[in-house]
Amino acid sequence: MSTAHSNKWLYRQPVEIRFGSGSVSQLPEAVWSVGGTKGLVITSASLRHLAEGLQQNPDNRIAAVYSEVRPNPSLQFVDECAALLRAQNLDFVIAIGGGSVLDCAKAAAAIAEGKHTIRYYYGTGHPLPQEGIPVIAIPTTAGTGSEVTSVSVLSDKQNKLPLSAPSLTAKIAIIDPLLTMTLPPKLTAISGIDALCHAIEGYSSIHHQPICDALAVHAAQLILGNLETAVVDGKNQAAREAMAEAAVTAGLAFALPKTTGPHACSYPLTAQYGIPHGEACGLTLEWFVQINAEIPRIQELARQLGFADAEALANRITELKQNIGVRTNLRDFQLTAAQIEKLAQDSQHPNLQNNPVPVTVEMMKEMYRSLAE
Ligand code: ZN
Repeated sequence: MSTAHSNKWLYRQPVEIRFGSGSVSQLPEAVWSVGGTKGLVITSASLRHLAEGLQQNPDNRIAAVYSEVRPNPSLQFVDECAALLRAQNLDFVIAIGGGSVLDCAKAAAAIAEGKHTIRYYYGTGHPLPQEGIPVIAIPTTAGTGSEVTSVSVLSDKQNKLPLSAPSLTAKIAIIDPLLTMTLPPKLTAISGIDALCHAIEGYSSIHHQPICDALAVHAAQLILGNLETAVVDGKNQAAREAMAEAAVTAGLAFALPKTTGPHACSYPLTAQYGIPHGEACGLTLEWFVQINAEIPRIQELARQLGFADAEALANRITELKQNIGVRTNLRDFQLTAAQIEKLAQDSQHPNLQNNPVPVTVEMMKEMYRSLAE
């Protein structure tokens, strides 16, 4: 077991964060501040109206809108956005949407000034360009954290891989909780659970550090106290504001320590079984809390969140998932032994190395078996 604790750490946070209900009206100021003259808005089809609304204000300096991004964005969307940026010589990007939109936009902006397609960098080890076109990220869900991380998760057929580079960081994040007021209950639930995983995994990571720990505790408290309300009463502005604050602080809580077991397991669950990202992460969260409970600081996290111990925290996570209607098992997939074996193997993802307790393929098989039964 690895409980090694170093008191050396580095904290760095390169994103300007503008938070508050109505803050999207600060977009012209943000555009001016990144030196933008002609920009591209990247979004999804369902949010095209938002993009067009932004385009109507000439101070936003928007020259084009790309609204094709779909969940688990493929390399193709990134290349289409980069091609638009290159062809029209655009000099900034506004990403408005959930994690998929933000991840796609950050990747397109990072490669746009070079000549390569994203495949040149994807899983090959080729370093991304040092600097890209500036991105203004406007999340419309409360969960992803992508607006403050230097990671883009992209999908290619059965693969789902994170790319990580300083150039995959937004310049400015505008977090306007009012944009989440119309988010449907299911998406609110899934993105909220993703944020809870970011907080707990950031805290649990072997790369934990005190500033991120404090952010993690703050975020987890907000989520445990407000997610149910945000799901059942979407028009509750106080709950939406709390969740938006939780999502960005949880993003900062894991941006440096990185995620651990639940995110490692989520990649094959999403790529092979189509389970949405946050739901896939949440599926194994309480299992990891229990496995990690032998580490004193995990018990400490539970106590800071108001629970007697890690087991009580794990039980509360299960209850929360049930209350908000996200998946708590894999029964409906009727997994075969071979499928369980493959999930256990594929979950040995690099992020699993950040988990404070080593997890073997055998342990994973047992975990997936119990979720499948
Ligand atoms: Zn996540």
